Amino acid sequence: MTTAPRATAKTAVLTPEDLITPSPANPQILLPAGVRPFRLNWPYILGIGAYHVVAVMAFLPFYFSWSGLIVAILGTHLCGLFGINLCYHRLLTHRGLKCPKWLEHAMVVIAMSCLQETPARWVAIHRRHHQFADEQPDPHSPLAGFFWSHIGWILVDQPELARLGIYERYARDILRDRSTSRSNATTGWSGSTSHRCRCSSAPDSPWLGYRDNLPPMRRRPGLAS
Ligand SMILES: [Zn+2]
Repeated sequence: MTTAPRATAKTAVLTPEDLITPSPANPQILLPAGVRPFRLNWPYILGIGAYHVVAVMAFLPFYFSWSGLIVAILGTHLCGLFGINLCYHRLLTHRGLKCPKWLEHAMVVIAMSCLQETPARWVAIHRRHHQFADEQPDPHSPLAGFFWSHIGWILVDQPELARLGIYERYARDILRDRSTSRSNATTGWSGSTSHRCRCSSAPDSPWLGYRDNLPPMRRRPGLAS
């Protein structure tokens, strides 16, 4: 595994006040366009609610085991570390490192076990987050609210994230990969069926007009991830 050279940039120093108090340089922002806070995303709510209920059941003596506790702790950290942090974030989204395809695909399988959506959807949302960091189109900016950035943004419907165009714009390189494309097509747990079907046909679809012209990602000074 080799690490690709990264561009360096001057970063602004943020004071604690900048991080807490809205100011002209750090104002409160509106929710992304089209979001209606009470239009709930039930597949996410039911899925997240279900596995939290199952986790709480571990406190009941009948369901508790030390081996289960060890697997839960190790699994959470290993899947989160290799699946989300390393694979979805650093490898697929930012292309910050290179590794053999078989290893990339293995980590994609691990990442999908975290139930954080398909590779293309995760990558598209995160690239959009970086392109519009802390501006209104940012899908989960803390400047739109602490609860919103922590979990609220996945509990309500965001029309902008439901458009097929975000895959074409932000994740066409992911959809070109036949293996991760199959993952997008068959194992997304909360995306709409129509989304999955359309994504599965996307890599070879001439009507999408694939070209290597992803929009440049604007980085805001002081934001590292
Ligand atoms: Zn990032």
